[in-house]
Amino acid sequence: MPSNRVRLIAGNWKMNNDVPAAKELAEGLVEKVPVNGVEVVVCPPTIDLACTSHKLEGSSIKLGGQNVYWEEKGAYTGETSCAMLKSVNAEYCIIGHSERRDYFHETDEDINKKAKALMAAGIVPISCCGESLEVREAGKHVEFVVDQIKKDTEGLEISDPSKYVIAYEPIWAIGTGKTATADDAQEVCGAIRATLVEIFGEETAAGIRVLYGGSAKPENIAGFLEKEDVDGALVGGASLVAESFAAMVEKAGE
Ligand code: PEP
Repeated sequence: MPSNRVRLIAGNWKMNNDVPAAKELAEGLVEKVPVNGVEVVVCPPTIDLACTSHKLEGSSIKLGGQNVYWEEKGAYTGETSCAMLKSVNAEYCIIGHSERRDYFHETDEDINKKAKALMAAGIVPISCCGESLEVREAGKHVEFVVDQIKKDTEGLEISDPSKYVIAYEPIWAIGTGKTATADDAQEVCGAIRATLVEIFGEETAAGIRVLYGGSAKPENIAGFLEKEDVDGALVGGASLVAESFAAMVEKAGE
């Protein structure tokens, strides 16, 4: 990995942890996650953002949302704005997670609008992409992900490449215990980097972090991080246990 990209480990708590559980996990993370030059972000459910933010105060762990709506305010029941995320000191926000694409019908056009709104607000998008098992078995995974990247980044202006993050998450590896191999991850992450070069030019593309996500855990993270175009991980299940998440940060710092 070229040295200008700081490794990033982000935890996606998904719809887990009520407020007391979120506070407990945040306390455990503050105690156990090492400060070792790796950038660390946790993304709790919206209801837990304020209490988690409070618990993370003074630590090196940053906060992120799991979703955002692009409008500033108004009659959008159930949604969360960029300003609301900023008000709890969220610096990152996941967008386009496959669960949101599948269960909530989020489109690439929505993801693109979310990225633009977040970047205008100074929040770093962690923009997810990834293919289904069917697409992979048809051998069309690279083409599929490249198409997502082109649509999700359309019209984006990236002045600071450290402020836009992509997470490659093959859907068949999320929460299933099936991981992609490190070579599988590199194949697609490398294609993502090449696409970013086409869109934004060499210099910007070289500074954008591309994460791997999908059943990543302390036992397998090192293999992914050895690959040239894998700059960190988006972690679901293993981010719910302070010891596991801390161990992954530890490995990422080695
Ligand atoms: C995720 O949902 O972003 C994820 C990668 O989940 P898991 O690590 O549990 O596969």
